[in-house]
Amino acid sequence: MLADLHAHTWYSDGALPPQALLKRAAQRGLTHLAITDHDTTAAFENIDPAWIAPELQLLAGVEISTLWERQEIHIVGLAIDCTNMTLQGLLQAQQQLRRERAAAMDMRLQKAGICGLMDYLATLPCTAVGRNHVAQFLLDRGIARSKEHAFRNFLGDKGRYAASARWCSIVEAVKAIRAAGGIAILAHPNRYRISNPALRRLVSEFAAAGGEGLEVSYSNLDADSLDHLASLCLSNDLWASTGSDFHSPDNHWMDLGKFRQLPARCADRAIWLHPDWPGCMSAVKPVSLNGA
Ligand code: AMP
Ligand code: MN
Ligand code: MN
Ligand code: MN
Repeated sequence: MLADLHAHTWYSDGALPPQALLKRAAQRGLTHLAITDHDTTAAFENIDPAWIAPELQLLAGVEISTLWERQEIHIVGLAIDCTNMTLQGLLQAQQQLRRERAAAMDMRLQKAGICGLMDYLATLPCTAVGRNHVAQFLLDRGIARSKEHAFRNFLGDKGRYAASARWCSIVEAVKAIRAAGGIAILAHPNRYRISNPALRRLVSEFAAAGGEGLEVSYSNLDADSLDHLASLCLSNDLWASTGSDFHSPDNHWMDLGKFRQLPARCADRAIWLHPDWPGCMSAVKPVSLNGA
């Protein structure tokens, strides 16, 4: 069992199209893959079932940006019905916020004499435009030395070209995921810049909102952090999830399947034992929202 339940395609800020991602997933020996693009399920409109290797099960997923106490918190939805209109209504609104935020960043860039962001974004296949794309634009233009540099200096909280978005609340995201029959998971809990007491409050509020899982193991996590997250998961009666947060083959430290196994004490709380876990997947049917 190697379940990577957090990965991106080029429909949000990943580098690969779904076919290449599915090929890589099989090559890296995954048994389960969830595609969880930021605020879009467009990948699932563009998957030929023939691309899914017989030994691989594909789950429909999404990663929704939310605001909680002025922090951006990411909620992953797994085993969702992509055709659910409540979920799609929320995702359309989030995509619009992303377009408006990109336009606001473009205004700031133009004021600094840097033109062309919107033209660049228009060339991309993504339906959920993100800061990663803006970082790439700054890199291509020689304005940033690296993605990290772009985020640190230009696109982070106090960055020169940063713009904020009023994402939905955790309650709204969890509600939409549940409306779509999915399981809501709190993504990468130790990546938020919040204190330990705030993290505990976040997890208990997430659980109270109907959230059911916590990402316990993901890339770049040391043994102590893994242990801490396992405790947080179990003490809140949550299910334990695993995922790399794969974006690009260039980030080899975040490659598909590259994370520690769940600690033994989480074994009977592994997310794949959840009663709503799909029994027989590759059950992702190609869906079309545009009637094509
Ligand atoms: P957004 O959802 O558009 O606000 O962008 C958030 C995404 O930017 C994350 O999912 C990461 O893919 C990427 N990201 C955030 N911080 C960094 C960083 N310091 N370096 C590289 N990528 C980052
Ligand atoms: Mn991302
Ligand atoms: Mn995230
Ligand atoms: Mn992610």
